[in-house]
Amino acid sequence: MSDGQLAGDKWDMAADADLSVVIEEAKLDNFHEECGVFGVYGHPEAANLVYLGLYALQHRGQESAGIVSSNGKVLISHRGMGLVADIFNTKVIEQLEGTSAIGHNRYSTTGSTTLKNCQPLVVEYAKGGLALAHNGNLVNFSELREQLEKNGAIFQSSSDSELIIHLIASAQAPDLPDRLIEALGQVRGAYSLVLLTERQMIAARDPWGFRPLVLGKLNDATIVASETCALDLVRAEYVREVEPGEIVVIDEEGIRSLRPFAAMAPRRCVFEYVYFARPDSLLYGRNVYQVRKLQGRALARECPAEADIVVPVPDSGNAAALGYAEESGLPFEMGLVRSHYVGRTFIEPRQSIRHFGVKIKFNPVVGLLRGKRVVLIEDSIVRGTTLRKVIPMLRQAGAREVHMRIAAPPTTNSCFYGIDTPNRDELLASRHSIEEIRKYITADSLAYLSWDGLYSFLGNGSREGYCDACFTGNYPVEVPRDREPHQLHLFEAADHHFNGGGRADRLA
Ligand code: AMP
Repeated sequence: MSDGQLAGDKWDMAADADLSVVIEEAKLDNFHEECGVFGVYGHPEAANLVYLGLYALQHRGQESAGIVSSNGKVLISHRGMGLVADIFNTKVIEQLEGTSAIGHNRYSTTGSTTLKNCQPLVVEYAKGGLALAHNGNLVNFSELREQLEKNGAIFQSSSDSELIIHLIASAQAPDLPDRLIEALGQVRGAYSLVLLTERQMIAARDPWGFRPLVLGKLNDATIVASETCALDLVRAEYVREVEPGEIVVIDEEGIRSLRPFAAMAPRRCVFEYVYFARPDSLLYGRNVYQVRKLQGRALARECPAEADIVVPVPDSGNAAALGYAEESGLPFEMGLVRSHYVGRTFIEPRQSIRHFGVKIKFNPVVGLLRGKRVVLIEDSIVRGTTLRKVIPMLRQAGAREVHMRIAAPPTTNSCFYGIDTPNRDELLASRHSIEEIRKYITADSLAYLSWDGLYSFLGNGSREGYCDACFTGNYPVEVPRDREPHQLHLFEAADHHFNGGGRADRLA
């Protein structure tokens, strides 16, 4: 194998793919993933607050968004494809009247089918209107859907969230909280949910607590959000997490907490700390930025490098790079600048520009890098696409050496609980040694953070309470075998949009 090549391997093709503008309809869109949810009960400007909450949660999903409000009599809904700022305007927000509202941001593959999959899903069923916003993946979705369809159910979307609606509709209990308990008793997997009826808002989190969900307070109003950064924007006070396995019912009678399911050992997603959550959020009781910095410090202790400067791959490597710089005593430099205005597609000039896809997003700071030995910090390597392009760019800009340091252990397994990762076979670290990966990304050296380093923020070294299946393959909830190919399709569809640029390219 020559430097920078995984010969005869499809990775190689992905890395060298030319940029072209391709929008292809997603053939398989039965996951929803990487979503953000927000809900407000008891505020005269409920929809406006939800709009702001979704704005703060934009990093959790950029392809569609929606808000459903209740004026006490009916549910009013507005959903669309695109970013929150593009979907809503003052007129729309005014039409979303009422004192309670819920909203959802979603990453999805695109195409004509996806508007149907936009959330919150809204239905009229025997008991009235019902809207639902879901972050997570249900692993027994296919099996339950098949059963329901055999009994005559007709699904409007291909999203697993609709399954919960069907299960609620066919439940026997008289009121919604009990119907929800019946429904959730049948599903397995990850869900952080917010539901809205004409008179009630309900928040629910699966017994493992895979995805985050928090409660906030704004005067007399109750807020539910995926992350605390959304509470901050509306000046709501953080109250606490919705606990794993908890259902919180909010209505005229006040707030009540139900714990209908047998207690489980929680398995909160550790990858939210590594990459996904916003650094200013308080996640599972700890600030994400500080956790990432601690991971960067641990990385510096475990994997030092003879170098002149520490440079992050922005923005995902920023906090860890600061930690690395502090611990190593090396200067921190923003040697790569990232454009925050990268859209979904680009019109490429006919004469194709080499590495255009990554250049539109990152550009090196030439004067700064010339002659320097660089420690480059990134949170994770998925397919290696970004680094395979960024490292040669740094060298072209004059960097003498590039020592790659990853602030998490190798990502070797897919996530089936709400974070979109490719099929296991496509994860670089699942099939290649660290040395092979080093050659592929063309770094002078490569090292990953250890397990202990990853959990260094805990202080006691215990990894209990976290899901780290993407690093270990240790899945707390069994995943049916047929899920892997689906995951692959999803990733492939996204790749078409982003020119073989890898997952990171989707996050503008
Ligand atoms: P790759 O270029 O395929 O190796 O992707 C690595 C980049 O993707 C890094 O910048 C990560 O921060 C980012 N990343 C890791 N996991 C995900 C994910 N699930 N969704 C989006 N981006 C991700």
